[in-house]
Amino acid sequence: MIKLSGITKAYGSQQVLRGINLTVNKGEVVAILGPSGSGKTTLLRCINSLEKANSGEISIGDRMIDCKRASKKEIHALRGQTAMVFQSYNLFKHKTALENVMEGLIIVKKFPRKLAEETSAALLEKVGLAGKWNHYPSQLSGGQQQRVGIARALALNPAVILFDEPTSALDPELVGEVLAVIRQIAREGITMIVVTHEMGFAREVANHIVFMDQGVIVEEGSPDEVFNRPKEERTRQFLNLMD
Ligand code: ATP
Repeated sequence: MIKLSGITKAYGSQQVLRGINLTVNKGEVVAILGPSGSGKTTLLRCINSLEKANSGEISIGDRMIDCKRASKKEIHALRGQTAMVFQSYNLFKHKTALENVMEGLIIVKKFPRKLAEETSAALLEKVGLAGKWNHYPSQLSGGQQQRVGIARALALNPAVILFDEPTSALDPELVGEVLAVIRQIAREGITMIVVTHEMGFAREVANHIVFMDQGVIVEEGSPDEVFNRPKEERTRQFLNLMD
């Protein structure tokens, strides 16, 4: 289970997160929706400690930190429970698809090279990239690069995978192949938090929808509750705009 309590974050005088409370159960797929600038990406970055929240508590699995007081060691241990899939893929450009996936297994998980290679090959196959093992990112389409990013996240076997607008840098014709892979891993019961502007995908794949605006969670619930019977006017306005 993942539990966020009272997460706040400011950049200078700009308060970006104003007390976020969120519980994500094991195996849940949470979609975070909201207008540009509402703090969605910042929240994900606070969950995996790429950004340090100013206050609040984060617990993931059996690890818990008080954001204000956490030591580097505690932060490191918490981050080890997560993996992130970035909007812009963030692959190592001078490494092949296989080496990109192997990296975390060797460095973080301390796998011997041979086992890391076999595991990575199987994960690339799973995301539909058997045959592309030796391609460098520049030799892959955006959709293929993002699928390498997903295989790399899966390799870490984290308690949660955080997706930060995983399809928004892609040409429209490549969005479907990446969403299909995310849909497939969602079915396997992997806990995921997905920041997305893809409403159809959120409705279909997520079992918990969170709508954020101006650094707060305005409304959350099942897709049916949030999409078909939103309680808050701000949610209604946002969903109407996205239609
Ligand atoms: P989008 O849908 O456009 O990606 P978002 O909801 O993910 O938006 P964030 O990226 O979390 O929003 O940004 C929230 C606010 O925090 C914005 O006003 C942004 O300019 C500001 N912000 C984000 N990162 C930084 C940073 N590193 N330094 C200063 N301000 C930042």
